[in-house]
Amino acid sequence: MDIAANLASIRSRIEAACLRASRDPSEVSLLAVSKGQPAEAVADAAASGQIWFGESKVQEARAKIPQCPASARWHMIGHLQTNKARDAVHLFEMIESVDSLRLAEDLQKAADKAAKTVRILLEVNAAGESTKFGYSPALLLEEFMRINAFPRLEIHGLMTIAPWSPSPERARPVFRRLRELRSQCEDLLGAPLPTLSMGMSGDFETAIEEGSTLVRVGTSLFGSRSPLRRDPAAEPG
Ligand SMILES: *Cc1c(COP(=O)(O)O)cnc(C)c1O
Repeated sequence: MDIAANLASIRSRIEAACLRASRDPSEVSLLAVSKGQPAEAVADAAASGQIWFGESKVQEARAKIPQCPASARWHMIGHLQTNKARDAVHLFEMIESVDSLRLAEDLQKAADKAAKTVRILLEVNAAGESTKFGYSPALLLEEFMRINAFPRLEIHGLMTIAPWSPSPERARPVFRRLRELRSQCEDLLGAPLPTLSMGMSGDFETAIEEGSTLVRVGTSLFGSRSPLRRDPAAEPG
């Protein structure tokens, strides 16, 4: 895997998508999703100037982050169990996967103990898939202001994972829906929400055309995730 070359290619694809959408490329950040990848892969990407990295499991992040360059900064993008709130507050600069009032409450408590402010995104199951975590649009709008009331939590925007499809066009209505939901949340809040985290390896260009400010790219950057690395316990002796 030539991570430096992949990174350069992804960056130029981001720029081209911005150009098509008449957007300034500086509006779109790249989160390198390093789940299932070793610390060396993070170090390679960091050496090519990559700053932001995403992990989806607290346990994996806790083991990996200390082995990575200190320049790397971390987002939590996976489902977070409430009993991991304390670790998450210490490990991550942003938690993109807040999907319940209960989790927000536990993050508030953990952040209070740590005397920290935690940046969060609310994860939305915008396509209504039964297999996915995330707020339904209706519950999001219902609970938005209650989550906003937690003094230690700072809501920066919304995150979604589009249904997998070989055709990125299929994801376009989902991305559009998330952008509309952000406007509705901004109306409730009476203030702008800067972040729309949407788009992965298969669909990030479409997401940018629909307003994404944060694309989360794993396999296009690092190659496929090793099942051995992802879950060593699942490998036979
Ligand atoms: C794994 C993951 C990604 C990256 O997916 P790729 O298809 O490998 O780019 C992005 N976002 C979330 C929430 C993920 O879990």
